Amino acid sequence: MPHRNREGHRKRSLAVFPGSFDPITNGHLDIIGRSLSVFDQVTIAILVNPEKHPLFTVEERVAIIREAFPGEQRVQVDTFSGLLVDYAERVGASVIVRGLRAISDFEFEFQMALMNRRLNPRIETVFMMPAESYSYLSSRLVKEVFQLGGRVSELVPAVVERRLREKYGTGAAVRPPARPPSSKSERGIHSGASAPNSRSERGIHSGASAPNSKSERGIHSRASAPNSKSERGIHSRASVRARRT
Ligand code: ADP
Repeated sequence: MPHRNREGHRKRSLAVFPGSFDPITNGHLDIIGRSLSVFDQVTIAILVNPEKHPLFTVEERVAIIREAFPGEQRVQVDTFSGLLVDYAERVGASVIVRGLRAISDFEFEFQMALMNRRLNPRIETVFMMPAESYSYLSSRLVKEVFQLGGRVSELVPAVVERRLREKYGTGAAVRPPARPPSSKSERGIHSGASAPNSRSERGIHSGASAPNSKSERGIHSRASAPNSKSERGIHSRASVRARRT
């Protein structure tokens, strides 16, 4: 039954789509498109994590996402830190949308969804599957492929490709591999120097300073370690600075 306000008008449904979006990819766009077919409005909520070293600053990511949705009134961009469910409640969203790419995403997402439910039973998590062609796509892979000179035009909106070119100066590799690949996964795509930060990153290439245990990816982040999916799934840091943009 649709929610109605005191005047009897149907309340517009708002979903929050949290993540790091560094940068936004066509996989994200796919999930946002699907969300718009179910909810009236979607707020793309970028996690602000001062401990992270993203390629694009929060401001750049906000600008990129705005440019990717020209004139789309039903999509907003925002930033948040602190508990995700608190943020959702604050902006009046009753749903958190997450994308499920593969079975490998499931266990972790399931855990986060149940914890978020425990933290706030009024907020429901909804999972959406992208088109098969995006099921392997991640922001990290896009950055790697671009740095190594690969084509990303079918994987990201045009604005992202342009911004990547501006960032790196070229589509070709700008950083030679620092050391020979040491793991199977590194050999899969390339070897590289930068430290992986998320679960998926650890799956593809290894690095020096990533959080390694499940517990690190637990419920809340601490000052220096976690930099992971879980932070985006549940919360980031104590200092709450949500900014509606
Ligand atoms: P996170 O590290 O929290 O996954 P991301 O910015 O990478 O942050 O992703 C935000 C959300 O988008 C997550 O729910 C993630 O599963 C989803 N997502 C990312 N890439 C894809 C994709 N290719 N297809 C579907 N969902 C995706």
